[in-house]
Amino acid sequence: MKIIRSPSAMTAWSEGLRREGVRIGLVPTMGALHDGHRALIRAARLQCDALVVSIFVNPRQFGPREDYATYPRPIARDRALCRKEGADVCFEPTADAMYPEGFQTIVTLPSIARRWEGEARPHHFAGVATVVTKLFGIVRPQITLFGQKDFQQSVLVQQLVKDLNLGVEIIVYPTVREKDGLAMSSRNVYLSPDDRMRAATLYRSLRAGAEAIRKGVTDGKVVQAVMAQVIKDEPTLTIDYLVVCDPRMLEPLSAVISRAVLIGAVRLGPVRLIDNILVTAPRQRS
Ligand code: AMP
Repeated sequence: MKIIRSPSAMTAWSEGLRREGVRIGLVPTMGALHDGHRALIRAARLQCDALVVSIFVNPRQFGPREDYATYPRPIARDRALCRKEGADVCFEPTADAMYPEGFQTIVTLPSIARRWEGEARPHHFAGVATVVTKLFGIVRPQITLFGQKDFQQSVLVQQLVKDLNLGVEIIVYPTVREKDGLAMSSRNVYLSPDDRMRAATLYRSLRAGAEAIRKGVTDGKVVQAVMAQVIKDEPTLTIDYLVVCDPRMLEPLSAVISRAVLIGAVRLGPVRLIDNILVTAPRQRS
């Protein structure tokens, strides 16, 4: 496995292979890799001839009071995981190489980025959209994988690729979970042992909402109340948002009559957890 740090060397490597008809896959990550990332890398390996995993803690998607400086960076372990899963390249650019002096362009998606994570983290999605556009320009993959874990991000990337004709096929991979249902995340290491025991409550609340829809509840407000009750039963958790939305534009749904996504963010002490479930309402009798 090659380790490439310079964007121009990365592009030269990809261009050489593309000319020979090699299909390049990219899994963008911020490192601190866990079994969720591993599953994405494995799935990507099956879909391409040459696989690039990027590891870049992107400063532009962190807010000023967020954990950019302390975000875990176990690079030796990450490289070992990438090597074991058959990556051909670990692309590890520096922040200076990605954002050299004079860098100006910012990519924004006003309506998808406005709500939910966008409200809690105002510059986050512009940072994500900009870095993803740059990574596609540098690595030039034909195919890329994103996790459903970050549902709003996956919607945004699909819209970005469509709007800007970036010509990259996107696969959204299902969320990989711990045994108790907690979605795997690099930030779960911040949870205290007590909070770790409570952390699966978010997934339980989403499941309760999904169950209500499957049983025929169609009123979005009622589904939200069902989900909120599960969180309120665990007093140390506070809700940032917990909502029923349409899965394309992430607008809240007043009536759940076909596909919906239940998305939520809760705070547990200093840690913020996000998760989601996709659900299809049962057919209504006419
Ligand atoms: P990150 O390193 O957190 O930026 O994540 C890199 C990619 O891995 C993103 O596309 C995430 O959505 C995805 N990912 C993170 N956690 C999980 C998980 N538990 N299951 C599946 N994909 C995940």
